[in-house]
Amino acid sequence: MPDPKGYLFDLPATGRPEFASLQEEWYPGVQDYWSRSTSARIFDFILGIRAVVIHATAGVSSSGAMSVMRDGNASWHWLVPDEDEEAHGQFVWACAPEARAAWHVRNDRSHAAVNGGATKVNHWSLGIEIVNSQRRDVVDPFSEWQVTAAARIVRHCWWKYPNLKQVVSHAVLDPDRRTDPGSHFPWQTFRDQVMERPTESLPVALSRATPMAELASPTVSIRTCCA
Ligand SMILES: [Zn+2]
Repeated sequence: MPDPKGYLFDLPATGRPEFASLQEEWYPGVQDYWSRSTSARIFDFILGIRAVVIHATAGVSSSGAMSVMRDGNASWHWLVPDEDEEAHGQFVWACAPEARAAWHVRNDRSHAAVNGGATKVNHWSLGIEIVNSQRRDVVDPFSEWQVTAAARIVRHCWWKYPNLKQVVSHAVLDPDRRTDPGSHFPWQTFRDQVMERPTESLPVALSRATPMAELASPTVSIRTCCA
C-alpha cells in the first residue's frame, strides 16, 4: 500500500502549461468569514508561492469541512466536493483568496526536501482539501473526478505562479500527526494527470493581449497633482 509520507513530486520548469483553466465557485457565504480564518502572506503573493499541499478532510461532507473554517480553526484555498454532493463533477469550491495564507499546515513543520526545509509553509503554499473520510474500516475511494479536479487545480496554479515547484502531501510535512490524503489516494495517477494533461489553448482575449514585457514605456512624463 502506498505511503502518503512519500507523496511528493517536483514540477519541471520545462513543463509549465501555457494555459490551464479552472472551474471554481466561491463556497456559499465564505466571503463572510475567510478573513478571520486566513492571514496576510509574509512573502510576495505571486512570486512567493513555492508549493501546493494536498489534504483530505477526514470527514464526509463539504459543509462539515467548512464548519471548521467558519469557526476559525483551519482553512484552505480550495475544497474538492465528495461524490454525493451537487457540485461533484462540475466545479471545485474556492474557500479563500489565493493572495492570503490559509491555515492548513502547522507553522513549525517542514521537510528537508520541500522548499529547502523552510517552515511557515502556509505563507509560501496553497492548500487543497479533498472531501474523503480516510477511514480504514470502510471503503471510501476518492472518485476519479476528485483526483482529476485536484490535478486541474495544481495545473492552474502551475500556470499562474512562476516559482511554484513542488506538490506535496500534508503527511510529508507533518508525519507525526498527519497521514492525509491517505494511502487510498492514487498519488501516481494524480501526478500523471498534473504532468500529462493535454495542453489547453489560450482563450482568444488572452492570446490577443500584449505581454507586459512588450508594452512600450510611456514617452511622456507623468505628472502628479503635487509635481
Ligand atoms: Zn491535512
